[in-house]
Amino acid sequence: MIDLLPAQIKGWQKVESIALEHFNRAGLQEIRTPIIEQTELFSRGIGENTDVVGKEMYNFDDRGGRSCTLRPEGTASVARSIVQHGLLNNGPQRLWYRGPMFRYERPQAGRQRQFHQIGVEFVGIASVMSDAEVISIAWDFLKDIGLNDLTLELNTLGSNEDRNGFKKDLKDWLNKRFDMLDEDSQKRIDVNPLRILDSKNNSTKELLCEAPSLSDFLSKESKTRFDYLRKLLDNLKIPYKINSKLVRGLDYYSDTAFEITSEHLGSQATVCGGGRYDGLISELGGPKAPSIGWAIGMERLIMLAGDKILNLKYPDVYVIHRGEKAEQLALNITCQLRSANLAVELDYSGSSFSKQFKRADKSRAKWAIVIGEDEVSRDQLLMKKLRDNENSEGREEYIFSRNDIDQLIRKLNDK
Ligand code: ATP
Ligand code: MG
Repeated sequence: MIDLLPAQIKGWQKVESIALEHFNRAGLQEIRTPIIEQTELFSRGIGENTDVVGKEMYNFDDRGGRSCTLRPEGTASVARSIVQHGLLNNGPQRLWYRGPMFRYERPQAGRQRQFHQIGVEFVGIASVMSDAEVISIAWDFLKDIGLNDLTLELNTLGSNEDRNGFKKDLKDWLNKRFDMLDEDSQKRIDVNPLRILDSKNNSTKELLCEAPSLSDFLSKESKTRFDYLRKLLDNLKIPYKINSKLVRGLDYYSDTAFEITSEHLGSQATVCGGGRYDGLISELGGPKAPSIGWAIGMERLIMLAGDKILNLKYPDVYVIHRGEKAEQLALNITCQLRSANLAVELDYSGSSFSKQFKRADKSRAKWAIVIGEDEVSRDQLLMKKLRDNENSEGREEYIFSRNDIDQLIRKLNDK
């Protein structure tokens, strides 16, 4: 377990504030659950035969003789809380969480016994669109942190029936090669053969290249679902790589499974892991509630982001203008605001207002100053809030007189 020292905290705060901004924009709500849960939650929710439950949990009996566990991950706790408080009575839940998690693993770079996750859960939504949306929230967030060398690995685990068919075949195949497997994998053949696909043992990994593939066991329905997800990701221009060996560490996944990896992380390459878990909520006594989510490992993310995260600076204002007279005013205003210590980006495209607005949103500035012919003739400046509304109509806005620039600067410094 490690201390986070003052020198490191700035980077953490920056990452967390960018995450919060993304979550707010996506309309997610935060949930905070206790760090300690009953052990049974994880053995039921995650599965007895997983590494996490079998080997990695911090369990203890409390003074009342109850078996307690320091949470090893967030999803089971969030699911428990949703069931316990009947939150689904208010409709589907789109939540995020963050906090420390505990796993008794071998400590190494990118792997601690106390680590931190930030995660998202969409609970009670079956639509494939939510799979694409959840992935895009992670992808856009990581891009915004300045990470450009990420790979999205994608797989489908199909339905329970698909997996049962596959398990039988895989088991036969593995039993024939029993002696070539590592000890852990040998133990798993009967209890949880799918998990062998997730083995970190190199010789087992190599052997598995020839193993039967889950993709050959998918029903038409599962395939159609997966194809549609791929189409949605293509439309969003999110690149992905199909990895048919990707099963993820926990038992509760079905259909979509994904990981986001980086070459710069060494052997602990996964920065984000997620997938669909349609059976978990009902397993914990709740209603049938198809769900999907992901978790990002903060330590790995901070390692990737490095010091550049501290210098990540976005403009305070983006200046949008159209027309010759507007141009001069725009330049004047830009320089005036810069001398007031504000970071200002001036648009140079001369393109339509809507295109300039798109660029302004992309710049991540909080505000736009809009100068068109009307503003010039009335000697006014229009200031509009950015990034809280896709469409430029209906954004929060203020009008200032050209001569009252001090008031405009006060407003900019305000928020
Ligand atoms: P790995 O294959 O690296 O063990 P995992 O499949 O066990 O990962 P998840 O349970 O999916 O991990 O957790 C999501 C993310 O949390 C991981 O992708 C990783 O970034 C981070 N994470 C998991 N375990 C640790 C750990 N012990 N130390 C630091 N980060 C971790
Ligand atoms: Mg692990």
